[in-house]
Amino acid sequence: MNMNEIMTTNISDEQLIEREFNALLEDYLNSNHRKKVDIIKKAFNFAKEAHKGIKRRSGEPYILHPIAVARIVCRDIGLGSTSICSALLHDVVEDTDYTEEDIKALFGEKIAQIVGGLTKISGGIFGDKASAQAENFKKLLLTMPEDIRVILIKIADRLHNMRTLGSMLPSKQYKIAGETLYIYAPLAHRLGLFAIKTELEDLSFKYEHPDTYEEISEKVAASEEDRIKLFRHFATPISDKLKALGIDFEIKARVKSIYSIWNKMQVKNIPFEEIYDLFAVRIIFKPSDYANEKSDCWKIYSLITDIYKLHPERIRDWVSRPKANGYRALHLTVMGPDGNWIEVQIRSEKMDDVAERGFAAHWKYKNGEADEESELDKWIKTIQEILENPEPNALDFLDTIKLNLFASEIFVFTPKGDLRTLPNGATALDFAFDLHTNIGSQAIAAKVNHKLVPLSHQLQSGDQVEILTSKNNTPSADRLAYVNTAKAKTKIIAFLRKERRSRISRGEKMLKTFLEKNELIFDTTLLNKLLNHYCLKKKEDLFLKIGREEIETDETMRKLLKDKGENLLMKYFKMAVGRKGDNNSNNNAETKESPNPKDKNAHVIDRKATYILREQNGVKNYSIAACCKPIAGDDVLGYINENENVIVHKRSCQVATKLKSSFGPRIISTKWADHNEISFSATIEIKGIDGVGVLNKITSVISDNMAVNIKNIIINVSDGIFDGKITIMVHDVQEVEKLCYSLKQLPNVKSANRINE
Ligand code: MN
Repeated sequence: MNMNEIMTTNISDEQLIEREFNALLEDYLNSNHRKKVDIIKKAFNFAKEAHKGIKRRSGEPYILHPIAVARIVCRDIGLGSTSICSALLHDVVEDTDYTEEDIKALFGEKIAQIVGGLTKISGGIFGDKASAQAENFKKLLLTMPEDIRVILIKIADRLHNMRTLGSMLPSKQYKIAGETLYIYAPLAHRLGLFAIKTELEDLSFKYEHPDTYEEISEKVAASEEDRIKLFRHFATPISDKLKALGIDFEIKARVKSIYSIWNKMQVKNIPFEEIYDLFAVRIIFKPSDYANEKSDCWKIYSLITDIYKLHPERIRDWVSRPKANGYRALHLTVMGPDGNWIEVQIRSEKMDDVAERGFAAHWKYKNGEADEESELDKWIKTIQEILENPEPNALDFLDTIKLNLFASEIFVFTPKGDLRTLPNGATALDFAFDLHTNIGSQAIAAKVNHKLVPLSHQLQSGDQVEILTSKNNTPSADRLAYVNTAKAKTKIIAFLRKERRSRISRGEKMLKTFLEKNELIFDTTLLNKLLNHYCLKKKEDLFLKIGREEIETDETMRKLLKDKGENLLMKYFKMAVGRKGDNNSNNNAETKESPNPKDKNAHVIDRKATYILREQNGVKNYSIAACCKPIAGDDVLGYINENENVIVHKRSCQVATKLKSSFGPRIISTKWADHNEISFSATIEIKGIDGVGVLNKITSVISDNMAVNIKNIIINVSDGIFDGKITIMVHDVQEVEKLCYSLKQLPNVKSANRINE
């Protein structure tokens, strides 16, 4: 047994608490803030007393959590004593009998206000009860940051909860991980907390895709040796030149985070091995004088481009024009010694600190000691200006986070401000049907952002939509052309069918009354005469035309039926030619009224997938989400919809990510049952060089070697290169992977990867 083990096994809770608190104090004393140790000690003692005897799920004393949050606030965000105290006290009002008033009496107005703000959002906007829908998020950001420290401490709180997520219930893990990826990571990014953002993303990813996370980590580790070699080879000539110029610098390789590697693999549909920019080179220099910071960056730039070939389209000057979150650096991409492009980031020490820890870190450069209050005020002002400014550019961050993050969905508002979610491409008429079938049926026009538009108008995220209706209006077949949601389509089709049926019976009655009046008998001869005359096939078509008053039961019809003339045959031919167009348009209406064959297909897949999954709480009715179409073996989760059916999404699906954060309690974990009788469709993208018999080889690999069925195959060949998509029926992920592997063994095939359709 070594010393460490003795220490950790025998340490008492009290000693553990002391040790962690002392570490916090040490971080604080090493910062450039004023040394207000007394108030921090006071907050610590008070919180320790308040949470006394309470343990976290992990079995640790509760107080270790606020201490850890305070350390993040101090060390990773760079905040001072007011924030450290607030972090230590952040759960006191929420979890103990003490009130905000008590905090105010002991620690003053400011700290009480921050703790109050944190309490308010703990069970509210970010909590279980309320959904974190886009609108709520906007409200939060617009109304809450009277003090931005509330949000910063909340982010620190979330980071610590993510670090200790392992001891939570699995169902909570999904909700928290999903919410973190949806709200906290983008928020941290926006606030310039790059290191925290990266850690939040990696932790969320680790819980959502444990196997993939492990796999990528291993591959990163396995490729380290090669990477170090390449980096040395690349960096040595730069280092030598920088040294010769007498610049004080550090040069290092920054490996991409696991999450961003995975993201790139997803976006570009490439395997790990094809990511060439696994690392970037970072040069951090200490300028002799901060006044020369900018010119020093360009000096280093020109030195590098003397050695390596520059990619002219990939220069990013965030020194002259910093990003909105304060990020400053000069980025360039050059051709590395192995022929791959390498990104180089040039930053001064100050720029680097801001880049990693956000604005707060920047204060210490002001005048030795930072005045937290006044510096924070400036920052809050900037953020609030961004939030309050209605200009589209200033609001881009709200838009990108809450509105356009999920390209497959749009968020629109009713005149009363209620939020509705619709698929991308939805029209005003889709929105009307989404509100209510009657509104959809009676809709005549819409007002989008108070402007009158036709019902076919395509909606954008953030639109406010009002539907104008008329009681006398009924949907016509042409309206099918301007709806894009299944709900609206089904409703219109159902309405048209109903209308058709009632017109048919009306027409039948009208014809019979007419015949009775004229003493004619409705027999086969008479019917055929009418059908021939009007070029119709079935009696229902005749009744329909009469019911719709397109054919009139009048003198002309009477004459036709009474007339026994020889010209009838001639007449028939004339009519047949003359009515041809009519007949066609009739056929068109027929096709429009039948449901879209694509939709039908989707249902078949749904039904097939039913019952294939098993969940801890017993078997429910499952279906496969149409957005991401997971197949057996994918990391999945279940979402219980309004009808208590479970929709199975890929965990990586963007729609699922939003559902997780909005409807956490409706998310359940699902596992694939062992099975092999059910098939899923999966699409493989294949690229390569054209040659004799290539297509033959590909199809034979698929059908002969693998015994899977090809559903669809499209291959385009141009300039000697082919590029194709093959949709196949498989049983699980392994089968697709095996198949991709076999395809890649073919001499002409360059890549074969599963893609989302
Ligand atoms: Mn907490």
